[in-house]
Amino acid sequence: MKTVKEYIRTIPDFPHEGIMFRDVTTLFADARGFRMAVDQLLHPYAGQPIDVVVGLEARGFILGGAIAHQLGKGFVPIRKKGKLPGAVIEQPYQLEYGEAVMEMHDDAISAGQTVLVVDDLLATGGTAEAGIKLIERLGGEVVGCAFVIDLPELGGRKRLEALGMEVHALCD
Ligand code: 5GP
Repeated sequence: MKTVKEYIRTIPDFPHEGIMFRDVTTLFADARGFRMAVDQLLHPYAGQPIDVVVGLEARGFILGGAIAHQLGKGFVPIRKKGKLPGAVIEQPYQLEYGEAVMEMHDDAISAGQTVLVVDDLLATGGTAEAGIKLIERLGGEVVGCAFVIDLPELGGRKRLEALGMEVHALCD
């Protein structure tokens, strides 16, 4: 029986030369693989008090939507700048070259709500940290951050754990 990791393929030199891109579309395209990934991601949180699932653009939407449905909770997207139609709060974060901005609707989360953050891959942790800051600025409490893949050598897990986050990843 294939593991989640075995459904993920690596594309060399995407989006730039020298980058080994971990492609989860092959995991999502397989019915068994996708179900296994969603089930394993939500397993530690079943029975925990989670009010809202937040997905980080873009692959976090695919996983987060399925997890929210399975947990019977709502789903909130955190998007790159300029994509959300309503009033937003924004959070800049560092990229390898330059800066980017993540946004969330300013009424998407209420103070005191407990939140599960979901994305496909954790690298430096910059994207997830920006998401966590947005949630916390609205008074939300992040109870966990769930990823399919952790790239430990890039330090994201340590960075999020230093913020007091519980990090759950299905494979390295
Ligand atoms: P970080 O902010 O942790 O450095 O980067 C993580 C973000 O970049 C995630 O939103 C993730 O989707 C994306 N990302 C970076 N590298 C890869 C990769 O090799 N494969 C996939 N699927 N996403 C990546």
